Amino acid sequence: MATLELDGIKKKYGELEVVEGLDLSVEEGSFTVFVGPSGCGKSTLLRMIAGLEEITAGELRIDGERMNDATPVERGVSMVFQNYALYPHMSVEKNIAFGLKMLGLPRDDIKRRVAAAAETLQIGALLKRRPSQLSGGQRQRVAIGRAIVREPRLFLFDEPLSNLDAELRVTMRVELAKLHRQIGATMIYVTHDQTEALTLADKIVVLRDGAIEQAGTPMELYLDPANAFVAGFIGSPQ
Ligand code: ADP
Ligand code: MG
Repeated sequence: MATLELDGIKKKYGELEVVEGLDLSVEEGSFTVFVGPSGCGKSTLLRMIAGLEEITAGELRIDGERMNDATPVERGVSMVFQNYALYPHMSVEKNIAFGLKMLGLPRDDIKRRVAAAAETLQIGALLKRRPSQLSGGQRQRVAIGRAIVREPRLFLFDEPLSNLDAELRVTMRVELAKLHRQIGATMIYVTHDQTEALTLADKIVVLRDGAIEQAGTPMELYLDPANAFVAGFIGSPQ
């Protein structure tokens, strides 16, 4: 069954059409990766799915229900940003718990969820620190923890590892794959990195100028890219 369905999704900023009538189906529990050059509309698309950006035309369904006008909470979607977007004046623990407090969850429930996420992400020892006292990798773990505790049906990652150094990117990539297996959630992930796309994805969607150039399994795209553009991203070693 599809968790997310996009039917002719469009985004216009004034006269500028940045997403051009896009159709996509994302299977429950799958890991979908969007790749494409800077400015092709990846972040705009994620933000529309998250409910952070208005959809100009088309229909967005989550678990079969039209969600064009629903809030992020109603959609059951959590997004992890490239720049972490942590609250600098709050401890790690409070950063992770913040969204749950907003939802009015009981304190015991919040504590249990935060402890479980901290264990999964191995940040239990950091809970009392401020974001400024963390490394880039630790900050990104906190940002992921904040998404996990909401128990969303859909995770959205917008280039979450691109600010980390190469070695840490590899570590975090392996851990993200583990996390996906462990919690079995549906994930959509935006990256520039060919290795990340090939190793993480069940399905890769190559975007160009707000439209899908090709979509398929890593093997399909790697072995049989539809054109030179797709090959430049996925098909040939770089
Ligand atoms: P990507 O994430 O693939 O780099 P974006 O989704 O950020 O691309 O941007 C797609 C296009 O939309 C770009 O041309 C960008 O300049 C434009 N754009 C993004 N946000 C806005 C906005 N708020 N107003 C006008 N144009 C925007
Ligand atoms: Mg972007």
